[in-house]
Amino acid sequence: MTAKTLGRNLEILEKYRKYADMAELRVDYLDPDERLLIRRFPELAGMPVILTIRRDSDGGLFVGGEGARISLMARGLAYAEADRRRNFAYLDIEEDLNVSSLEEAARTFGTRIIRSYHNIKGTDADLPVKIRSMRRSGDEIVKVAVMANSTRDVLELLCAGKECEGYEKVLVSMGHFGIYSRILSEQFGSLFSYCSALSESDAPPAAPGQIEIRELANLYRFRNITRATKIYGVTGYPLKATSSPSFFNTVFELEGSNAVYVPFPADSITDLIEISKELNVEGISVTVPYKEAIIPFLDFESDEVRVIGACNTLTSTPQGWLGTNTDARGFSDSLLTFLSKSNFKRQRVTVIGAGGAARSVVFELHRLGAKVLILNRTIHKARRLAAPYKFAWGGLDEQGIEKMEKYRDIIIQTTSAGMEGINPDNLSDDPVAMYNFCGREEVMDLVYKPKVTAFLKRASNAGCNILNGFDMLIRQARYQYTQFTGKEFPEHFLSRVQFGES
Ligand code: NAP
Repeated sequence: MTAKTLGRNLEILEKYRKYADMAELRVDYLDPDERLLIRRFPELAGMPVILTIRRDSDGGLFVGGEGARISLMARGLAYAEADRRRNFAYLDIEEDLNVSSLEEAARTFGTRIIRSYHNIKGTDADLPVKIRSMRRSGDEIVKVAVMANSTRDVLELLCAGKECEGYEKVLVSMGHFGIYSRILSEQFGSLFSYCSALSESDAPPAAPGQIEIRELANLYRFRNITRATKIYGVTGYPLKATSSPSFFNTVFELEGSNAVYVPFPADSITDLIEISKELNVEGISVTVPYKEAIIPFLDFESDEVRVIGACNTLTSTPQGWLGTNTDARGFSDSLLTFLSKSNFKRQRVTVIGAGGAARSVVFELHRLGAKVLILNRTIHKARRLAAPYKFAWGGLDEQGIEKMEKYRDIIIQTTSAGMEGINPDNLSDDPVAMYNFCGREEVMDLVYKPKVTAFLKRASNAGCNILNGFDMLIRQARYQYTQFTGKEFPEHFLSRVQFGES
């Protein structure tokens, strides 16, 4: 609860009550006058409340000095009532705060101590030692919240949690890299997970990476996650704009599967694979920029992955990681349906880009009979991709653009240039800005966020039919579902599945 007044916090609590099991009152977010009135908050909240007054050095807003902070804590515990529901259920005390009278008072009236440690800059070495040394008595809950600056940091925390099995604790990897430590808190060995009501403009998240409470409860079905829950996810970097959790979690919910699908942002695919093994992840969707980088980690692969050289689907099997590629079929199903065709024979096609997605596109265009020109910013990659198919190639330069004149029945944009979250400073990126559409081209952009890229907008303005990557995304995800679960995609759910297109 991070609003400035107790009244507003209670309003917010009421609105989100059905999603929460307990509340943390962040006294440091309250206006100074309000801080004096905290004692009655647990009774008014009507659920267990954690009393927390976080210092600025630990990521909070309290700047008043330790004396003032301790007095406030004492105020929160004062006049304890025999009916424990009227007292704070928990008191958060940092590991370096030594006030035994406060702890005694808390214990006497059944307020449990959360012994906390925060590192807002990074993840400490020797976390297991830290966790073990923090707890001063058996009835304390240890809370360690450390900033994850990398996937390695999250791995460290996960392994520390496993080493300290049996301790009552809450372990959080703060920041974007650690987002799944908040969803899979059970797997991280945590007693509970902190989230926020961040859709309320006056209730900011109390720590970096906190998830909105309804998202945690509804999208990830947090309360249903147990050690038996099957875990799936999507990895990539920076992975800020993924819609896949929305798609898979809705399907899992509709069909009643005990499964969850989470984002695994990763700066190192090696570390992500280790995390996946630790978490017993069943399947991973692989996205930018790892579709090629993942291949050395595969234990075996489909024929398509071998030929295409890009993998977007990782499935855990008793024999190890199986790599498959569902982009290829997703792409051709989508474009052929759009064009009302069954193949690309007699079509002259330009493919812009030569990354992982382009490999799948080119493979399908070849399989289905097209004549293709591949243009890429890094020209040798275009040449390398074109060679086995004997396709034409070029750079994203004047000469390359000239070649497009002969390959313009269909133009397919496969780079991440216009993708939201990739080029935050230049969303209007159009990799073939020099090309003039004649208006008869059929134009596809694999990007789906934003719905209309600068490239598609220019094509549409010139009179071309345009298709974005959203339909392809759904089609490849359906194939991915089958790969992950061994079941046919439940088509009757499709109309109810949200892919969070916008
Ligand atoms: P990737 O392997 O990292 O390849 C990126 C490609 O984009 C490379 O050809 C790269 O050129 C090019 N590129 C990046 N920034 C550029 C810029 N500013 N100007 C020109 N070229 C640029 O990524 P990917 O896996 O192929 O994915 C590419 C895009 O396709 C992403 O936006 C992804 O979301 C989308 N996609 C959509 C679907 C779908 O279902 N709709 C499926 C797969 C992918 P260089 O070689 O010169 O670096």
